[in-house]
Amino acid sequence: MSTEIYQEFCDIMKKRGGMYPGADIPEFYPLVKELFTPEEAAVSIALDLGFSPASDVATKMGKGAKEVEDMLEAMAYKGLCISADLGGTIYYGGPPFVPGIFEFQFMRGTKTEKDKKLAKLIHAYKAAYRVAYPPKPPSFPQARVITIDKAVKADNMVYPYNQVAHYIETNDPLAVCTCFCRHEAKLIDEKDDCKVPDESCMMFGTAAQFVIDRKIGRKITKEEALKILKDTEDAGLVHAGINKQKLDFLCNCCRCHCMILKTALAYPKPGEELASGFQPVWDAEFCSGCETCVDRCPMTALTSGEENVPVLNLDRCIGCGVCLTGCPMEAISLEMRPGTIVPPVDDAASREAMRAGRV
Ligand code: SF4
Ligand code: SF4
Repeated sequence: MSTEIYQEFCDIMKKRGGMYPGADIPEFYPLVKELFTPEEAAVSIALDLGFSPASDVATKMGKGAKEVEDMLEAMAYKGLCISADLGGTIYYGGPPFVPGIFEFQFMRGTKTEKDKKLAKLIHAYKAAYRVAYPPKPPSFPQARVITIDKAVKADNMVYPYNQVAHYIETNDPLAVCTCFCRHEAKLIDEKDDCKVPDESCMMFGTAAQFVIDRKIGRKITKEEALKILKDTEDAGLVHAGINKQKLDFLCNCCRCHCMILKTALAYPKPGEELASGFQPVWDAEFCSGCETCVDRCPMTALTSGEENVPVLNLDRCIGCGVCLTGCPMEAISLEMRPGTIVPPVDDAASREAMRAGRV
């Protein structure tokens, strides 16, 4: 019975998609057995990708509403389902592994023996998945880099979805969580630490309320959010999220641990996969040739030039602006990148764009 449930759950996780969908490989089963009891897996199978009240899930399962509601509540605290209070009724949804269940396991930043065991199992599953299904550039970019907010040339159009501060200004509540990629690495090996801020994953609006309610993250003010943004930019981290205009979360990513950046780094043209819509331009008059920007670039898009000014490989440039924030001479600014695709508005439009392929 439990084996059948986990096999059915594997099919459901395939349909939920995301970066690491369900895959019938040996590493799947020890991982899901650690995450879900057979009863919890059965509840998750009955959940939709969208939101449903517990009573609908119970009807689908042929079980009592109270019993299923209690299980969903416990699962939400474990990060095994998502929930939202819509008009006084709690609705529940079944997320993919990524973004979703994997991240929720490490966003509290705890270091229990169970956390360490899960980190190893998740790491093993992701590694085996990449061997079974080698990553290749998707038909439509699943993720997007949001450039730093400053030094865009004055004659360039900047849309709200291009600006990190826009998400901080227009959302309430805001929350911050521990970076799951870096925390997972540290749970496996304490020395695997790139010494950048740990508490750096930002959540907005309904998603923020979920992590606050379920004690996965903590509520922050707009001022704290802007300070976190400044600290992550100083540390050379890249702002990235799902490729849509209405962002629920924003990661602040390092090139050494972030699964999005590491995957993109391996592509020949990461600049086509994650482009922010901007590209850096240099003012040769101010550049001293110190090469700080070359070292800071997370995509190895810069090389030393014969003159002082570094040479940009646009195929590798994701327009993050990390070169710009480290330049002591303020010799770099940003301009619009021609031909950049306008991000889909929301989840539904994003899924449709991925189904339709690159436009
Ligand atoms: S960091 Fe600034 S000054 Fe140094 S090489 Fe890059 S552009 Fe020139
Ligand atoms: S050159 Fe490198 S650091 Fe600068 S915007 Fe492009 S990818 Fe980012």
